[in-house]
Amino acid sequence: MFDVNHIRQDFPILSRKVKGFPLVYFDNAATSQTPKQVIDVITDYYSRYNANIHRGVHALSQEATEAYENSRHYIQNHFNALHPHEIIFTSGTTHSINIVASGYASLLKPEDELLVSAMEHHSNIVPWQMLCEKTGAILKVIPMTSLGTLDIEAFGTLLTSKTRLVFVNHVSNALGTINPIKTIIDQAHQVGAHVLIDGAQASPHIKADVQALDVDYYVTSAHKLCGPTGVGMLYGKEALLLKLPPYQGGGEMIEEVTFEKTTYASLPHKFEAGTPHICGGIAFGAALKYLNKIGFETIAAYENDLLNYATAALLAIEGLKIYGQADHKTAVISFNLEGIHPYDVGSILDQLGIAVRTGHHCAQPIMDYFKIPGTVRASFSFYNTKEEIDRLVAGVRKAQAMLQ
Ligand SMILES: *Cc1c(COP(=O)(O)O)cnc(C)c1O
Repeated sequence: MFDVNHIRQDFPILSRKVKGFPLVYFDNAATSQTPKQVIDVITDYYSRYNANIHRGVHALSQEATEAYENSRHYIQNHFNALHPHEIIFTSGTTHSINIVASGYASLLKPEDELLVSAMEHHSNIVPWQMLCEKTGAILKVIPMTSLGTLDIEAFGTLLTSKTRLVFVNHVSNALGTINPIKTIIDQAHQVGAHVLIDGAQASPHIKADVQALDVDYYVTSAHKLCGPTGVGMLYGKEALLLKLPPYQGGGEMIEEVTFEKTTYASLPHKFEAGTPHICGGIAFGAALKYLNKIGFETIAAYENDLLNYATAALLAIEGLKIYGQADHKTAVISFNLEGIHPYDVGSILDQLGIAVRTGHHCAQPIMDYFKIPGTVRASFSFYNTKEEIDRLVAGVRKAQAMLQ
């Protein structure tokens, strides 16, 4: 049985006060909070076996290497990757996408086409624009509907034999929309295109099976799923990662270095130049373990209940509009009050100890589509409660009364 009050005791930060009120943390889509089980793993690392990995013969280095590689295995199993070396540790989603985008610079030719969805985070747009500038490839946009879903029919017409890459988020961070990625992957494969799925927003709520999806690249960040910032992963199919040129040169990513010629290390090390975020990599695995212990189905069901409760309560407020009304969405509510700037609503909520995000959520094209400067975004996690949602709703009503 899922007991939210019991779960909340795992998160020390949830018992603090902000501006004199108990904290209500509804900015989970920006970063999630960290349970003590993960904090303990981080403390343990620095207290007992902090050392550089893969190099030392001494005990600490071996313990650190083993913990780091065990974590890679755990992540491999979680995402059901075929090989551990298909999991590349990165600094996060942004870094992962840049590795792939920069690697394709030598694999594309002018006139090749890339398809991006209209609802991407800037980190899944800008690296590809840079790639197009370098190669002369053309970036085309899969359009969105007014419900905040992708126009899959239009996607079908955009796909041609020239399409080389398709990149779409699994879940939109600004709208919460869960995209039909299996359909997208299958259709893209029919024309021989490769697909990168940005899983940053999906990973805390949905367990992705990369083999069942047959996805070519899947990326995420640990800090969205109860892990630390500054660490994430790039999953890639072995055959593709072998062909992809390395992103950064340095230590750890080489096999042999002479001034005449350097040969690269095997996977995953080819993409892991320099000393990595060792403790972060270990904590990433620990965070997934924590979520698996609760269970992804339990998490999704509870969060969906919060979503329905909050949607009904917010829509009862006159002049409140929700952006993103897909049938399948995670517990993200992007909204505006008629005639009131989202920033002003966010500031008043902050005075009440309620943390929401305001602005364009690194997804400016979505805001342009709806012709708005931004939204107020409340994003829920399994450690949130209906009582907290009641406080949000009261806060929004108060903001409306003050600002109207
Ligand atoms: C958070 C997020 C990113 C960026 O993640 P970083 O950890 O900042 O690199 C990219 N895409 C989506 C959908 C996100 O939610």
